[in-house]
Amino acid sequence: PPYPYLMEGKVISGFGRGSKELGIPTANLPVDASLTPWIASVPSGVYFGYASLQLPAGHAQKTDAASSSSFDVFPMVMSIGYNPFYKNTVRSAEVHVLHHFDADFYGAHMRLLILGFIREEKDYQSLEALIEDIQFDSAVARKSLERDAWQPGAVTVPNQNQD
Ligand code: ADP
Ligand code: MG
Repeated sequence: PPYPYLMEGKVISGFGRGSKELGIPTANLPVDASLTPWIASVPSGVYFGYASLQLPAGHAQKTDAASSSSFDVFPMVMSIGYNPFYKNTVRSAEVHVLHHFDADFYGAHMRLLILGFIREEKDYQSLEALIEDIQFDSAVARKSLERDAWQPGAVTVPNQNQD
């Protein structure tokens, strides 16, 4: 199917592998094939796009009080797949939000707008190599989202009424 891919859900606990301590926390979303039918047919790998997060009150990123229940939008890089490094058996979707948060946001509602593919899933010989690649993927995601075609207003919606 064409981009963008959409996905949403509440942030759940992952495998608790301490990726946070390594500087690359990944917010895990439940994978429900009936809500995200496209997920079965896309290649496993690393994708980029935007995450909108409904942060709990007191966790607002903006200063105005009215923002506490609104969605904030951040760039993100994510993996969809089986994570061969960890030999998972179920498909996982994990999102590294390209933003610093002072607190965890387990349970927050997250919506994803997946805009492009960065690379296929790889197996790793070491955790260091995995971390290095994720940092490179994050840079690719940031650069991609800076391109003209991804700027707000750059999208031209075809006129549906025109023959
Ligand atoms: P888990 O194994 O439970 O997914 P992680 O070490 O991957 O644990 O940390 C993920 C959690 O860290 C997320 O669920 C979220 O609450 C929090 N977190 C804080 N900052 C970020 C961020 N920039 N991107 C993703 N998750 C973050
Ligand atoms: Mg995680």
